[in-house]
Amino acid sequence: MPPSPRMPTKRTKILATLGPASASPSTIEGLIRAGVDCFRLNFSHGTAAEHLERAAMVRTVAERLGRHTGLLADLQGPKIRIAGFAAGAVELEVGESFALDPKLGEMAGNSTEVGIGYPELGGDCRRGDRLLLDDGRIELEVEAITDGRVATRVRVGGRLSGNKGINLAGGGLSAAALTAKDRADIQTAVALGADFIAVSFPKDAADMEEARRLVERAGFRGRLVAKIERAECLSSDATLDALICASDLVMVARGDLGVEIGDAALVGVQKRIILRARQLNRLVITATQMMESMVASPTPTRAEVSDVANAVLDGTDAVMLSAETAVGQYPLKCIEAMTRIVIGAEREKITQTSQHRRGRQFERIDETIAMAAMYAANHMGNTRAIVSFTESGTTPVLMSRIRSGIPIYSLSRHREALRGLSLARGIYPYLLDFDAELGLQQTIEKSLALLKERGALVPGERILCTVGDSLGQSGQTNTLKVLTA
Ligand code: PGA
Ligand code: MN
Repeated sequence: MPPSPRMPTKRTKILATLGPASASPSTIEGLIRAGVDCFRLNFSHGTAAEHLERAAMVRTVAERLGRHTGLLADLQGPKIRIAGFAAGAVELEVGESFALDPKLGEMAGNSTEVGIGYPELGGDCRRGDRLLLDDGRIELEVEAITDGRVATRVRVGGRLSGNKGINLAGGGLSAAALTAKDRADIQTAVALGADFIAVSFPKDAADMEEARRLVERAGFRGRLVAKIERAECLSSDATLDALICASDLVMVARGDLGVEIGDAALVGVQKRIILRARQLNRLVITATQMMESMVASPTPTRAEVSDVANAVLDGTDAVMLSAETAVGQYPLKCIEAMTRIVIGAEREKITQTSQHRRGRQFERIDETIAMAAMYAANHMGNTRAIVSFTESGTTPVLMSRIRSGIPIYSLSRHREALRGLSLARGIYPYLLDFDAELGLQQTIEKSLALLKERGALVPGERILCTVGDSLGQSGQTNTLKVLTA
């Protein structure tokens, strides 16, 4: 795109995890200004009171800045963990034996054995299986299972402290989808007004359907994220598709997924999940270790720059930061670097052109209008922006599934709908000053004036507008207009 006074910079959204390093109003303000669109509250750490306080901080700062910053509550899920060690961490040496025993006490571990709060472990693994601890840092090979106790040989050793996560290479540890803690945390997520709830370790669509019933019963009205982090999610194309369709967004949760399927398989799988999510009209987040070295360094490595840029080229809606912004030393520098890298990648033509779903039939009117708008925007020279009037956010999400360099300004009178778009690529949310007395024509004119005033539109430039005749009703978009700002 040629340089223009228009405001939008990056299209790809940034999801940053809040933690001790970032949970203050001044840091939150800096991070939002530098490019954060949505904050993640990680329920694997911290208390309910802490999350409530941080959520309130984000809302206050965003309100003051006039931003529709989203909040994502990430449930811990049934991550299986070892118990503790009597004398702190132990050192595991290659070739030594080490046992995992559900009958051992909570703090009874030593350098030969440790407890585990998952009695089914013995039934889920077999001789020769590899167990991975602490995100794959330590590897154990199963040698024998007697009476629930799993005897192993250390294949990759190292220092091991208590409460570390454990995965089975290839997947197959079968804990239930939502724990008692998750159920309690769902209540907190609703109380703090989360726009997104992320479900950890779902294995299939049925797990997401169960989660949806639970969150809806708790009064949640936002969007549900499936974290794809178990090998089972990828057992067949149909399983993955159904899981994506049962969710509003998916996360390529590379931390746990990489441990289960192996890091070498991860790159291709990331591309496949992003492509499928877009094809199925769902949003997608790419997560974990994107800028890991910035936890302790003020600049990213070349490999990290490349990783973030590649996720953008793959078509991800959002990129996520975990420890980098939660506990790292350079949260602000990290967001500045990420914004810069994202913008650089978005300049590539491949991110702006699309095959437009040729050969597809559309069943819905709003989808048809959304696709027509994108086709026109990408092919009619001099189109500078799309202005989409929306109730629930559906039409802009459908539009943003098509690659384009044209900004999609989404106007809604519902703040929740705008925050729900905080992770959708290419979408810039604006609050619509809705007045039922005004007709459609006047509402459009008033909104264009607002966008010009904010510097988002330049007078005289060509724009496309999608709207419903009956403005104010969900799912009613039926009109595409070509206008001059
Ligand atoms: P986590 O999820 O950070 O909650 O583990 C993301 C991942 O596994 O990549
Ligand atoms: Mn995970």
